[in-house]
Amino acid sequence: MNISKRMDNIKPSPTLAVSAKAKAMKARGIDVIGFGAGEPDFDTPDHIKEAAIQSIQDGFTKYTPAGGTEDLKQAICAKLQRDNNLTYEPAQILVSCGAKHSLYNICQAILFDGDEAIIPAPYWVSYPDMVYLAGATPVIVDAKAENDYKITPEELKAAITPKTKAFFLNSPSNPTGAAYTEDELKKLAEVLVGTDITIISDEIYESIIYDGFVFNSIATVEPKLQDQTIVVNGVSKTYSMTGWRIGYAAGPANVIKAMANIQSQSTSNPTSIAQKATIAALNGPQDCITMMVTEFDKRRKYMVDRLNAIPGFSCFTPKGAFYAFPNISGVFGKKAGDHVINDSTSLETYLLETVNVAVVGGLGFGADNNIRLSYATSMENIEKGLNRIQEAVEKLS
Ligand SMILES: *Cc1c(COP(=O)(O)O)cnc(C)c1O
Repeated sequence: MNISKRMDNIKPSPTLAVSAKAKAMKARGIDVIGFGAGEPDFDTPDHIKEAAIQSIQDGFTKYTPAGGTEDLKQAICAKLQRDNNLTYEPAQILVSCGAKHSLYNICQAILFDGDEAIIPAPYWVSYPDMVYLAGATPVIVDAKAENDYKITPEELKAAITPKTKAFFLNSPSNPTGAAYTEDELKKLAEVLVGTDITIISDEIYESIIYDGFVFNSIATVEPKLQDQTIVVNGVSKTYSMTGWRIGYAAGPANVIKAMANIQSQSTSNPTSIAQKATIAALNGPQDCITMMVTEFDKRRKYMVDRLNAIPGFSCFTPKGAFYAFPNISGVFGKKAGDHVINDSTSLETYLLETVNVAVVGGLGFGADNNIRLSYATSMENIEKGLNRIQEAVEKLS
C-alpha cells in the first residue's frame, strides 16, 4: 500500500522506541536497567484517583464538549492566575488528550505549507515532526553547551525570516533540564515583541525545578507577549498522570477555537473521567509535588556526579525536569569488540547490548554528542545502572 508524501519526514518517537526495546528484553528475562522513561515513577496521588472513581460512580462517563468541560477550564484559569499571574477566560482554554495533543493541534491551527517554525536544539523529539505534519519547515537553532543549552537573543534574531510563524520555547527543557531565568526570558521577549511570531511555550516541567530556581512564563515576564503566546501545560509530569492523557493550551480565543474545531473533527473530548481527576489535581493539595521533587533532586545530584566521573563524559547540572543529558563525545573513536563508538546511537546500542542499560541517544533530540538518562527511577536502579555504564565505558579503548 502507498504511504502519503506527508509521512516522508515522520519518524516514530525515539524515546518510546527505546522503552519498547528495553521492555521486550525484560520480557525475555534479561535484567535491563531502564533510563529511557519519560514519566515520573511515582503513583498518581490518592485524592486524584478518588475523584476519578467518584466521577464513574456519578455516571460522568459520556461525551463532554470537545474542547473540555467548563468546570475544568475554570480550574485551569484559576491555576494560571495563581501560579503564573496570567489572566485568561475559559474561552481561551483548550483541554486536550495530553499536552502533546495540544501542541499537535497548535501546529495544525497556525502553520501551513511554506511556513517556518524556530526550534532550539536540543529539542523535545516531537516538535520537528509536528511541524512537518502541518506542512511547515522546522528551523533548528543550536543552543550551545557553553551557554548552558539556552539560545541567546542574537541567535533567535538571526533565525527569523519573513516566513517565521512560530517559536518553540520549552523551559525547563526536556532533554537538557536547562531553564531560562526571568532576565533571559525578558531578553528573548525583546526580539519577539512587535513581530507576528507565535510563541509556543511548553511549560510542562514548570513544577519540577531545583536549587531554588524560580519558574516564569515568557507571557508573565513580558505582558505584551500574552496575546502572542500559547501556553501549553498539563498534569502528566506534575501529578504523575501520564496515562490519564490530559493537557491544555491557553491563548488567543480565535486560535483556541480553531484547535477545538480540530479536536471536534478528530479525537472529540479528552476522557470525561480524567477531566474530573484533573480538577482534583489542580484544586487539591499540592504537597505531592514537593515530595516528588525532593526525591528527584537527590537522584539528580547523584546521577550528575557519577556521570561527570566517567572518563569522556561531561554533564550539565539540570535546573529542572528529570533528565541528565551528558555530552559523550569524549568517547567517540573508541572501541570494544565489534562496537565502535562514533555517535550517540552507537553508544546507546553498546550500552543496551553489552551491559543491558537503556539510555536514549541524543540524535532524536537534535544532539548527537549527547545521551539522555531519565532519573525517574529508583535510587537503587540508578546506582546499579551507573555502575554498569562506568564499567562499559572503561572497557572502551
Ligand atoms: C512529556 C512532555 C510533553 C507531553 O506530555 P503529555 O503527557 O502529552 O501531557 C510535552 N512536552 C514535553 C517537553 C514533555 O517532556
